[in-house]
Amino acid sequence: MTKAKRMKKSELKLYEKKLIEERKKLLRELEYEGGQISKTQLESSGNLSAYSNHMADQGTETERRELTSQILSTRREALSEIDLALNKVNQGKYGICEGCGKAIGKRRLKFLPQARTCIKCSEASQR
Ligand SMILES: [Zn+2]
Repeated sequence: MTKAKRMKKSELKLYEKKLIEERKKLLRELEYEGGQISKTQLESSGNLSAYSNHMADQGTETERRELTSQILSTRREALSEIDLALNKVNQGKYGICEGCGKAIGKRRLKFLPQARTCIKCSEASQR
């Protein structure tokens, strides 16, 4: 048995709770943004509402839509990261760096509960 420092159960529960809350929030936002997109598509195919009149020209509208789909894909990515992290909680691997196998700093986990690597490894991969 290797003696990798395990996280306390109470602590693990805290992060798990945080991850689940974050997941719910993301799902809500995805639903909302998804709804916004279909609304925009309806509006552009039908009559112009006061809202889209207020909006600037077509170019801006397209840009806005692109931005929204970018936001959506970022959120979907974050969601799958969170799912991965929750899986790790279940497997007892949560909080361990995928790069070096050491424990991820608590400050980092508080800031980014779905972090997969420690700060050192993440910085190294960004270089
Ligand atoms: Zn590491």
